[in-house]
Amino acid sequence: MRDLSSDLLAWYDVHARDMPWRVPPAQRQAGVLPDPYAVWMSEIMLQQTTVAAVRDYHRKFLRIWPTVHDLAAADDADVMAAWAGLGYYARARNLLKCARAVVADHGGVFPDAYAALLALPGIGPYTAAAVAAIAFDRPETVVDGNVERVMARLYDIHAPLPGSKAALTAQAKALTPQDRPGDYAQAVMDLGATICTPRSPACGICPWRDPCAARVAGTAAELPKKTPKKKTPTRFGIVYVARRTDGAWLLETRPEKGLLGGMLGWPGSEWGDDPEAAPPFAAEWTPLDAEARHTFTHFHLRLKIMTTHADLDTKPERGQFLTPDAFSPAALPTAMRKVFDLAHVTLRSD
Ligand code: SF4
Repeated sequence: MRDLSSDLLAWYDVHARDMPWRVPPAQRQAGVLPDPYAVWMSEIMLQQTTVAAVRDYHRKFLRIWPTVHDLAAADDADVMAAWAGLGYYARARNLLKCARAVVADHGGVFPDAYAALLALPGIGPYTAAAVAAIAFDRPETVVDGNVERVMARLYDIHAPLPGSKAALTAQAKALTPQDRPGDYAQAVMDLGATICTPRSPACGICPWRDPCAARVAGTAAELPKKTPKKKTPTRFGIVYVARRTDGAWLLETRPEKGLLGGMLGWPGSEWGDDPEAAPPFAAEWTPLDAEARHTFTHFHLRLKIMTTHADLDTKPERGQFLTPDAFSPAALPTAMRKVFDLAHVTLRSD
């Protein structure tokens, strides 16, 4: 049987995508390995997020905190604010925890083995395999959505995901080479992202077009099959947006546990089917005509927005007023930023 991994690596040598955290194949073959800190950060950021969205955040984090020691010593609030807009905020908290564990338990040097990486906070099996392979050239198999799609097509596997995950992983493992496993892991991802794309795979220019069973069978575009998802539920909430006469906004840091944990937000109700009003102080609250809508992984959120102006001597029961020099809307997670965008026109202080 021809060597599939060699064919793919030959393609990667010419077509590797340029990434801020990546060492190009020619340099890698000359013995240059990437900075494990940069690779680890890219993998945490890329969980649930596209390469296009991650590039600028990755550059920014590396500029502000160039080493794991710098990040471990950072203020939590600064890191959360720098992460704002990237979503899935538990990742930012885990990023900090992991940086501190690498410094405290490993002297600031990332471990190179899968098991030791897996033991670190915020690193699951996928990320441990990706960092071990990409940063340290360990022959670990990295299986993300791209790789699952490519394997389902290469072997024409019609069993639906997520049930077929183990079978697809086994195929991916069997193909992982001992030579250049880091480049190989990145090559399969690049193939899935640029050639073997979800809707219209470019089979004509694919390095695996000859052995690909789905291309021969004409089934590529319908793979991988997926078990239909349940309908996404909708939750409702009420947020209270107050602005003081000096321009300060009433904000609070959300509890560590739970969605948007540790991020800035507006005081408000719980999110559910029928939220109860819980204003942070007694006032005449006026509802906005528009509501803020945001979709999280497992539900849609619709936030009713109540607004009011507040005097300088207002004493809220929760949250604190942040003056314009202490608050930038860019520090808000996207759902809360949508509230700001709707409310600030009504509450202009100028
Ligand atoms: S030949 Fe087509 S379907 Fe098969 S791996 Fe390549 S791009 Fe994907």
